[in-house]
Amino acid sequence: MSERPYRIFEAFLASKRMLTPHMARLTFGGEQIADMTTRAPDQRIKLFFPKADGTPPAIPNRADWYEIYKSISPAERAPMRTYTIRSLDAGARELVVDFVMHGDNGPASRWAMYAEPGDRIQISAPNRRFDGVIGGFDWEPPAGLSQLLLIADETALPAAAGILEEIAGGNAKPATQAFIEVPSEADVIDLPQWDGLSLAWLPRGKDDHAYGAQMIAAAGAAVIPASVLGADTMELEAIDVDHDTLWDRAETIDNAFYGWIAGETAAVSRIRTLFIKEKRIDRRHLTMMGYWRHGKVRA
Ligand SMILES: Cc1cc2nc3c(=O)[nH]c(=O)nc-3n(C[C@H](O)[C@H](O)[C@H](O)COP(=O)(O)OP(=O)(O)OC[C@H]3O[C@@H](n4cnc5c(N)ncnc54)[C@H](O)[C@@H]3O)c2cc1C
Repeated sequence: MSERPYRIFEAFLASKRMLTPHMARLTFGGEQIADMTTRAPDQRIKLFFPKADGTPPAIPNRADWYEIYKSISPAERAPMRTYTIRSLDAGARELVVDFVMHGDNGPASRWAMYAEPGDRIQISAPNRRFDGVIGGFDWEPPAGLSQLLLIADETALPAAAGILEEIAGGNAKPATQAFIEVPSEADVIDLPQWDGLSLAWLPRGKDDHAYGAQMIAAAGAAVIPASVLGADTMELEAIDVDHDTLWDRAETIDNAFYGWIAGETAAVSRIRTLFIKEKRIDRRHLTMMGYWRHGKVRA
């Protein structure tokens, strides 16, 4: 069989524990995880859950699986959702994924609530046996980066935590501003610290339930280097946050500044307008991604 960059893996839930009131850490096992790999802290994967009637997912591990998947009506096929590899130990056949527990209103969050060790799922993830460019991640800061701005909500916290851990373990550390919106103060997790990291947790708390409001406020207050401000107004395609995918990827033009922003789509869209239209940041410095949409199912 010729190898593909991503393939379908069979896996089972090995263990589950609550990291915080709204975040569960699920560890998956399975012999095939020996062939999984990851290239970046925001490496994305697709998880396939059992259908509503409990039938386990049965996605064929072949190149045209997505065509087959799309040909089945949404009600009849296994729900698919996007997650982040929090950590992978292929040798130990262990994949860790952190799930936001937002209730039983979605198949992924519901499965994470009720799943028990031994329950099976399928995963589309990077294939260690493929020797070309795998892709599937967006954290690609320029070498020798001077200044990093990281804005995330809890769905992008697994990636943001991995990014901060990667920087902490490296030599040259950019001056970093990180703003992380979480449901409550109890959802703050331990992250590495270093001189030059300014990390602000933004709990929504009891009074302000507007998803993303604090990310938007933080974006307005972030310190942006003057050299990237005042770009000639660049084209900004309008985004329909309920239907379109918001996925802007930075291009490397210099190492002055890099923004990695991910979370609720309407919030990221507002930050995108603020940064590109109002502050006139050269958008080639910005990676901005809508990870989910409040009130909508965006499978
Ligand atoms: C590249 C990428 C990486 C991601 N990584 C992670 C990750 O590592 N961990 C993680 O938890 N999520 C992650 N997400 C977000 C995750 O895919 C969505 O939250 C997804 O909608 C969850 O599916 P669901 O079946 O639980 O809910 P859905 O069926 O998709 O939605 C049902 C309802 O729940 C609401 N909803 C969905 N997510 C949330 C939420 N977080 N809080 C409150 N309400 C919500 C929807 O608006 C909708 O009304 C990632 C998304 C992307 C694009």
